[in-house]
Amino acid sequence: MVAMDKLVSLCKRRGFIFPSSEIYGGLNGCWDYGPLGVELKRNVKQAWWDDVVRLHDDTTQQDGAPAPYSMVGLDSALLMNPRVWEASGHVGGFSDPMVDCRETRNRYRADQLVVFALMFGDDETGGRPHEDVLFAAPGEPGKTPASELLAVHRRQVAAIAKRLGGGQPSGIAVIDAALGDADKRARIWAPGASAPGTLTAPRAFNLMFKTHVGALEDHSSVAYLRPETAQGIFVNFKNVLDTARVRLPFGIAQIGKAFRNEINPRNFTFRSREFEQMEIEFFCRRSEAPQWYQFWRQRRFRWYTALGIRPENLVLREHEPDELAHYAAGCADVEYAFPFGQSELEGIANRTDFDLAQHMEFSGKDQRYFDDQASEEKDKRFLPYVIEPSAGADRGTLAFLCDAYAEDEVGGQPRTVLRLHPRLAPIKAAVFPLVRKEGMPEVAGEIFRRLKRRWNVAYDDKGAIGRRYRRQDEAGTPWCITVDGDSLTDRSVTVRERDSCEQQRVGIDELETLFGESIGG
Ligand code: ATP
Repeated sequence: MVAMDKLVSLCKRRGFIFPSSEIYGGLNGCWDYGPLGVELKRNVKQAWWDDVVRLHDDTTQQDGAPAPYSMVGLDSALLMNPRVWEASGHVGGFSDPMVDCRETRNRYRADQLVVFALMFGDDETGGRPHEDVLFAAPGEPGKTPASELLAVHRRQVAAIAKRLGGGQPSGIAVIDAALGDADKRARIWAPGASAPGTLTAPRAFNLMFKTHVGALEDHSSVAYLRPETAQGIFVNFKNVLDTARVRLPFGIAQIGKAFRNEINPRNFTFRSREFEQMEIEFFCRRSEAPQWYQFWRQRRFRWYTALGIRPENLVLREHEPDELAHYAAGCADVEYAFPFGQSELEGIANRTDFDLAQHMEFSGKDQRYFDDQASEEKDKRFLPYVIEPSAGADRGTLAFLCDAYAEDEVGGQPRTVLRLHPRLAPIKAAVFPLVRKEGMPEVAGEIFRRLKRRWNVAYDDKGAIGRRYRRQDEAGTPWCITVDGDSLTDRSVTVRERDSCEQQRVGIDELETLFGESIGG
């Protein structure tokens, strides 16, 4: 598995991802996509859009779906009437408990700080008897075993042990709910702190970014940057129903930015404060919701593997009942084995009729679906149930990058290569004239311009061919095309494939068909 620092450095070096406003020292939790990154991320979003909207065929029953269904798209505004967020529960409830360290000034999400009891006092190690020294370390309780976390924080533990008179801890245990208990908190050594008792009590911290609309900055002008794209879909449910001639079951898909004032942005783009979501709200009858939930779980899982993620790195994890939001009837996460641990790429939830019911109550506007086919009056109007597959474009892009990164050897030389699926690769093909003379640049230029009409392609006439291959391997380009002396007479070129490094002779007129088959879309 790729070490995160190697991937971050490749992303910076080759122009995939840069820290935002870097020349001013950056802004924590914000990232910019460079020339290669923007192509990759656009391809991820396009693959999603094509898969769920554009190429979806609503006239037949496909992919194991319980019935044929329709899909339409939407692009709603980032700023919405603040009542939306009252109805959705975000104004009152969208908060994480956070704790601050008064000494180091670090801030943590309380649910991402594990508190251990370290047992000292084993005579054999020569330690003084200290029982139950409490120690907090970043991590997610229940997800990472205590022994693993402890290994990561070995230096901090050693520092505590030294202050207490030496020795290694003879035992460890995770202590639940310690942060909320003032007595226990007073005994906790925070990460990097020189003494215990520096953590504050957990406080609720709303994750929405607030702003003001118009010239007046008072209570009446407050608006929020949306923390999810989903609510933009719910508030347009009736508009779509009345205009798009769709009937249940159908889905509305949207891709767009979302903002969360995350307490602790980390792991490169994984947890950012500004990110993009790819969300579907799929409306169906209550009785059919469990079937559609199963369908979307499988369908969304397969999307990642079809685009090249190795199945052994992907898990579909069903939530435990106590993890479910109060309104949800089921939720599963697609999780990827990132170098920093297995983490969520996408959540698929059965949200019941919660959101539409809330908007109906808060707006006073009827959100019910009208079924003119229903035989009984009582069945004619109802709120549909909703299955929500909610994916992150940035997390997806990061997972595709992690999975594609490889180091191998070609001709005895080490190389770094991104084995990206051709559909996702930022550059589909690179065209090289073998030398910059004898008519080769003209033929290469002709191929370049022809392919450019369909795909993002590159032209490179600088340096030895081997170096040009390496540059494209690192960018994830699936094919390199070399125009040589023979090309001028036989109208064929050498196509070298990125992963196998195999070369074949292909007619210039066949290139589009050859690439088109693999790129698809
Ligand atoms: P987490 O538990 O990791 O904070 P979440 O369960 O709150 O995520 P959702 O509200 O379900 O996330 O959002 C749906 C998707 O949006 C996530 O699966 C993820 O891909 C993406 N996402 C959410 N928060 C962030 C973030 N801070 N940075 C990047 N992507 C995010």
